[in-house]
Amino acid sequence: MKTQRKIEHYGLKSHEARFGTEEKCRQYLAELRWENGVPTCPDKECKNMYMNYYISSRKIWCCSRCKKQFSLTKGTIFESSNLPLTLWFKAIYYFTIHKRGISSCQLARDLEIEQRTAWFMLHRLRETLNNNENLNLEGEVEVDETFIAPILGKDVRLQSKKQKHDAEQEKIHGLSDYKKRKLRGYPLKTNRQKGVTKEVIEQRKIEKALLGERKNFEQPIVVFGILQRNGKIHLEVLGKGDGEARKENIFPIIKRHVTSKSIIVSDQSSIYKTIKKFFEEHQFVNHSKGYVIKGIHINGIENVFKHLKKMIKGTFFHIKLHHFQNYLFEHSFRWNVLKKSDREKIDEFLPNLGRQHRLKYGDLISRTFNPLNFAA
Ligand SMILES: [Zn+2]
Repeated sequence: MKTQRKIEHYGLKSHEARFGTEEKCRQYLAELRWENGVPTCPDKECKNMYMNYYISSRKIWCCSRCKKQFSLTKGTIFESSNLPLTLWFKAIYYFTIHKRGISSCQLARDLEIEQRTAWFMLHRLRETLNNNENLNLEGEVEVDETFIAPILGKDVRLQSKKQKHDAEQEKIHGLSDYKKRKLRGYPLKTNRQKGVTKEVIEQRKIEKALLGERKNFEQPIVVFGILQRNGKIHLEVLGKGDGEARKENIFPIIKRHVTSKSIIVSDQSSIYKTIKKFFEEHQFVNHSKGYVIKGIHINGIENVFKHLKKMIKGTFFHIKLHHFQNYLFEHSFRWNVLKKSDREKIDEFLPNLGRQHRLKYGDLISRTFNPLNFAA
C-alpha cells in the first residue's frame, strides 16, 4: 500500500512562534549578521568585536575602538524603518509563501498599514534577492525569450490612453489596416497583400518616408530566460520593444550564467544560430512543426514564462519597466524553491536579509531602467 507523505504545515502560527516578539527577531538578525551574535563594528577597517557598549534607550551600540555608533539593522533593508521587526517578519512570511506573490494592497490590509508603506516594504524585500552571482548552470540548459505586453482588458486607464494614442496616429497616418477591414466588413483575416500592386507599394514607401512609421500603442517588455533541467533559472529584462531580443543582448547573459560544457536547447529562432561556437552542443526545436521533436523541447522555460505571466495578470496587472527586473528576481526565487516545503522556503529566504541592501524611498521612485550589468 502506498504510504501518504506527511506534509509539515508551516502557517502564520508556526511562524509567529519563531518570530513573534521583537526580541526573537533581533536575536535572529544578530546571529545572521555577526559571528556568534556578538555585536561587531560595521566599519570595514575597524570590525571591532570586543567591549562594544550598548545604549539601551536607543537600541544602538557604540564601538569601543573607533567610537562610532551602530545599530543592528545598519546597512540592511530594515535600516531607519519605523516599523517593528515583528511586522517585517510577518510581511516576509506572506511574501515568500504566496505562490503568485502578494500585491501591496493586499499586504496593507493583512498588516493594517498604508498601501504606500506596504509597496515600499515589498520592494525592499525584492531588493534582497538581487545578488550578482554567476549561476554556473550546466548540463541541458533551455533558453528562450518572451514578450510581455500590457493587459488592456481590465485596465480602464490604459484603454483610454490607447484610444487617445490611436486617434493621434489616425490623424497622421489615416485609418489602420485593421479598422479599414472592419469598416468595409471584410473578414478580419484576409490576406493583406492581396490586390496590392507595385504602384501601391511604392506609394506606401513614399508615405512612410514622409510620415515615419505608425507607432504601436505600447511596446512589449522583452524578458530572457535560462533554465537548467532539474535546476535553477535566471530571468532578465532586455528592454522595451521587439528589437531588444538581439544576439548582442542575449549572448553575454548566456555566457555569464552557463558553463561552456553545456548543451544549449532553444527554438528555431535565428538569434541562436551561432551559439554553438561557445558551447558543447546546440539543439533546437522547430515550433512550426511541433513542440517536442525527437525528445528535444524547451517546455521547461515556456512553463516558467507561463507562470510569470499568470503572476503579473493575477496579482500585479501593470509593472513599470524600471521595476520589472526586481519582480523577475522574486519570480526566479519562488521558482527555485518551488518543490520545497513552506518552512524550507522561509529558511531559504531569510539569509538574504543579512546582506547589505539599503534601499531609500527616493532612490526607488527615481529609478530608471538599467539593463543588469554584472561584472563579467
Ligand atoms: Zn569601530
